[in-house]
Amino acid sequence: MTQAARPPFATMNGCIVPFEKATVSIMAPGLTFSVLAFEGLRGYWNSAHEQLYVFRAPEHMARLAFSSRVIEIDGIPDGQALTAQTTELARACEMRDDCYVRIQAYIDDLGDMSARGPVATSIICRPRGRVKSFVEGMHFCVSSWRRLPDDVSPPRIKASANYLNSRLAGLEAKRDGYDSAVILNRDGTVSEGPGGCIFMLREGDWITSPVTAGILESITRRTLIEVAGDVGPSVIERDIDRTELYDADEAFYCGTGQEIVPILSVDRKPVGDGSPGAETRRLQAHYDALVRGNLEQYRDWLTPVWGEPQ
Ligand code: PMP
Repeated sequence: MTQAARPPFATMNGCIVPFEKATVSIMAPGLTFSVLAFEGLRGYWNSAHEQLYVFRAPEHMARLAFSSRVIEIDGIPDGQALTAQTTELARACEMRDDCYVRIQAYIDDLGDMSARGPVATSIICRPRGRVKSFVEGMHFCVSSWRRLPDDVSPPRIKASANYLNSRLAGLEAKRDGYDSAVILNRDGTVSEGPGGCIFMLREGDWITSPVTAGILESITRRTLIEVAGDVGPSVIERDIDRTELYDADEAFYCGTGQEIVPILSVDRKPVGDGSPGAETRRLQAHYDALVRGNLEQYRDWLTPVWGEPQ
């Protein structure tokens, strides 16, 4: 596993500081009890426009506000302020490349699991290219771990505590020779993968699990529901049974980090002919054009970094 490059700067509570100075207390409830909500966003460099576009910043900020509210991390800056801090940090880091932004809201210093302060926020922005599996695809198993239910630790919020469940599923899959895992919920239907949502093409429709299936309400998923019909079949949200994945013509895994990754097999059973499907490829191309600012009708989803401060 390669170490991620250290960014030169980070934003701590609204101030840009050298990355080494962006530290937390070892007794921070954000660390000791995972009282931490976060977001991961991508920035896309468009060389023809000489512009870096942050994708769907308001939606990510709204989800961060919601996640924070649920776990009672109160008083974080509003979405506009966090977006302005993000673009300012990207400029400070001289970011002219595809990149990844992580924003965290947490309880710092020293306290117990119900501590409500001090509330802290931090942002990092670092170069991050496309994952290799965007082209190559990935092999999935169905995990022996079940997805956290909403009445235990709600997957709908992006809280670091939920990622132990993802880690267990991901580690098991890799140990068993797969690339990643489909995680079933308590009802035995498909929820999502460790860090992204699942779509399958079956009988001519794209199908993805509903928001009540124990998923993070993914912004990539929402985007694809909105745009898939532009270039191919549209998307139906309904429960997915495990064996439907064995019968799917195509399937993919999606999220901010992965974008759209073809699923080549599930439990060693090939999906379609076992190679990335034509509709998946069409959707990948469309997604790339829109996130990079090459489709005028979706420009509202992009926040430019360079030029006038936002
Ligand atoms: N599910 C989980 C568990 C995730 O961690 C992610 C990545 N944020 C997603 C789905 C995809 O969400 P998004 O498209 O908003 O990145």
